[in-house]
Amino acid sequence: MDYQTVYDNLKKSYRHEQLKLFEQVFAFAEEAHRNQLRKSGEPYISHSLAVADYLGNHLHMDMNTVVAGLLHDVPEDTSKTLEDIRKNFGEQIAFLVAGVTKLGQIKLRNQKDENYIETMRKMFLAMATDIRVVLIKLADRRHNMLTLQYLPKDKQERIARETREVYAPIADRLGMGELKGELEDLTFPALEPKEYAWLLDLVKERYEEMQGYVDRAREIIVKDFQEAGIKYVDISGRAKHLYSLYQKLLRAKYDRDLGKIYDLVALRIITRSLEDCYTCLGVLHSKYRPLPGRIKDYIAFPKPNGYRSIHTTVFGPERRILEIQIRTQEMHQEAEYGIAAHWAYVEKGKPKTGALAQPKQLEWVNQLRDWQKEIGSDSEEFIESLKIDFFKNRIFVFTPKGDVKDLPEGATPLDFAFLVHSNLGLHAMGARVNNKMAKLTDELENGDVVEIISGKEPRASRDWLRFVKTSNARGKIRSYLNKHQKGWFTGLIPKLPFINKK
Ligand code: MN
Repeated sequence: MDYQTVYDNLKKSYRHEQLKLFEQVFAFAEEAHRNQLRKSGEPYISHSLAVADYLGNHLHMDMNTVVAGLLHDVPEDTSKTLEDIRKNFGEQIAFLVAGVTKLGQIKLRNQKDENYIETMRKMFLAMATDIRVVLIKLADRRHNMLTLQYLPKDKQERIARETREVYAPIADRLGMGELKGELEDLTFPALEPKEYAWLLDLVKERYEEMQGYVDRAREIIVKDFQEAGIKYVDISGRAKHLYSLYQKLLRAKYDRDLGKIYDLVALRIITRSLEDCYTCLGVLHSKYRPLPGRIKDYIAFPKPNGYRSIHTTVFGPERRILEIQIRTQEMHQEAEYGIAAHWAYVEKGKPKTGALAQPKQLEWVNQLRDWQKEIGSDSEEFIESLKIDFFKNRIFVFTPKGDVKDLPEGATPLDFAFLVHSNLGLHAMGARVNNKMAKLTDELENGDVVEIISGKEPRASRDWLRFVKTSNARGKIRSYLNKHQKGWFTGLIPKLPFINKK
């Protein structure tokens, strides 16, 4: 990774003053790390440069984030301090570097011990303060994984495990599908060397053969679209990430049989508009019979991490099974870069400061910050809430107006009510689910339309704490009770049925 190449690429997207800042910060970082070497034998600055390159030329983050990438190891590993950075380059950049340094002090020892959750917790708290810190840390980890082979075996394993258990899920939750896949692939040879070698060998021939087929299918579909008068942005083949292929093969229904995998190489169609996605789907289905049950409309029903696309599997050209993914350019950007896609080129427009605009799908980041304020970040309950809300599968339910709400599996109408508004939750009396009367305690299912019936007076009671599933609802109920039911029964003592009897 050489400076000139990185710089020339940055020139394509950043303004003059920003490039000037990059030059200055680079000179500072280069001097700070001078005479330090990576384990690979390269000058240390090559690592900082690789991190900045990914943030700038790949994710197109704002320039403060890019230069914070250049500086991310300076306070920890050189004689220059955070104070020096603040004096030279200002509060914003120092704040980002400080955040990354803090995150770097957390190490995962054993995925089963409590430090694991602790790591997750701290990562997320950092994220709630400024998500850019997390993106720098992910870029740092990505480059460390790319140069993993130079480290001793035991260290390789620890870092790879941490990457798989902590960093990849975070990239996933941020909608950064490409990075998640890349990180996971890099952990594979370090953690399961034999399995990796087995799969690589197995896949090689079949992959080339499949790639050839997808290329031929592509030509034919291009003609189909021409005949139908459909314009598109791009049609190309897309190979599945190796580790996600491996996980799929391990599932009982595939039984390690590569022949049962149809999306080893998929065809990806990038359209000009949302309408075109459905037009393309229509044309494809009229020419090629779709396999039943394989059409997934993630545009109408995005995944919890915001992923949008239409997937279908058809009997394609040559009567072979072919998976096709259809999405707009915007959806594609979001699917690959997730939350980072929302920063792309922000510097070209108005610079955003402070709490950056967050896409709607990431409302949970704000929720997290609220709970933390309410419950306190060190409490058991907070850690517990992360476990539950982060790891459980999510469901989508709708308000009567059609707004989508994202809840954990097993959530009740009461959880839904609190998610819509604290007051709606506190005043809830009953619910209508899909137009039928339901109890506040019933379990909601994916796709339910939920309407809350509320009364004039708040009805929140301690009993509610027993059946709500989200920490959001629990926190709001508890803080209401604390305000309105002061006295001898506090905190965690459950309300016993006989206490009120005379
Ligand atoms: Mn680093």
